[in-house]
Amino acid sequence: MASVPVSVLHSCRLVVVWAVLAMLPASPLWAQAQPDPPLVDSFRQWHDASGKLLTKSRLAYLDGDRIALWAESGQMLLIPQAQVSAADQSWIIAHPVKILRGKVIYVADGDTIGLLDADEKQHRIRLEGIDAPERGQAFGTKSRQALNDAAYGKDVIVAYEKPDQYGRILGHIYLNERWLNYDQLVSGMAWHYRHFSGDAYLAQAQKRAEAEKAGLWRDVSPLPPWRYRLAEKRQQEMKDSETAAKPMQPTGYWLNTSSGVRHNETCEHYGKTSRGKYCGAEDGKPCGMCGG
Ligand SMILES: [Zn+2]
Repeated sequence: MASVPVSVLHSCRLVVVWAVLAMLPASPLWAQAQPDPPLVDSFRQWHDASGKLLTKSRLAYLDGDRIALWAESGQMLLIPQAQVSAADQSWIIAHPVKILRGKVIYVADGDTIGLLDADEKQHRIRLEGIDAPERGQAFGTKSRQALNDAAYGKDVIVAYEKPDQYGRILGHIYLNERWLNYDQLVSGMAWHYRHFSGDAYLAQAQKRAEAEKAGLWRDVSPLPPWRYRLAEKRQQEMKDSETAAKPMQPTGYWLNTSSGVRHNETCEHYGKTSRGKYCGAEDGKPCGMCGG
């Protein structure tokens, strides 16, 4: 067995990696405690005062005394609030959406952009409902590139409910008649972030991408980014515990941790006291014999 070809060794290591990944739970531990939200139709029907269907819309917000609606076609409609049914008028008040308008000044990855608003204020926006492959993953670069090609330097509208617990804005990005969260999914540049999103329309977009083997779905078994991050985290924890287990490297100074006296490497006590550790040149009190 002395001359195992390198390629075999390499694939053995891959098998180990895959075995480890296979053992990981399908979703992060903290998400397991909470079931995935139920899938709901994100499009809502809007009616006028006489009960006639106006449109089906995913996004609706108050724009002065008008209601802005994104029709299923992607077209935006502005309807005077007084023209819609009383039920729809109360609904929009109960479901306020905030709007940010600005220019995309950077694309950090396939699900995060930077926006500069009219007041020159910067906002970091995480695209809601999707999770893009990480940099170290297959399609991580392509995913970022796709969003960059679509949005960089463009004026967009971001719709969101409120900043998340980290102060980031979780939002939906609209560029003219395009919904970029959806576009990233349908082109196979991101996953539907099912643990946090019950948007049936986005779930459908991923199914379509899978069926068409678009983007990352060309791989036989693509790895969800949340599992990749968990594997990375475990690997880092393993590295950290290895580092902690190693004895400290000699520094030229030794601290007697019982007496608090520091010795230098010329001293007979250097590295020799029953309790002690290597230390810096300024730690502890200098030894009276060697000068510490
Ligand atoms: Zn000494």
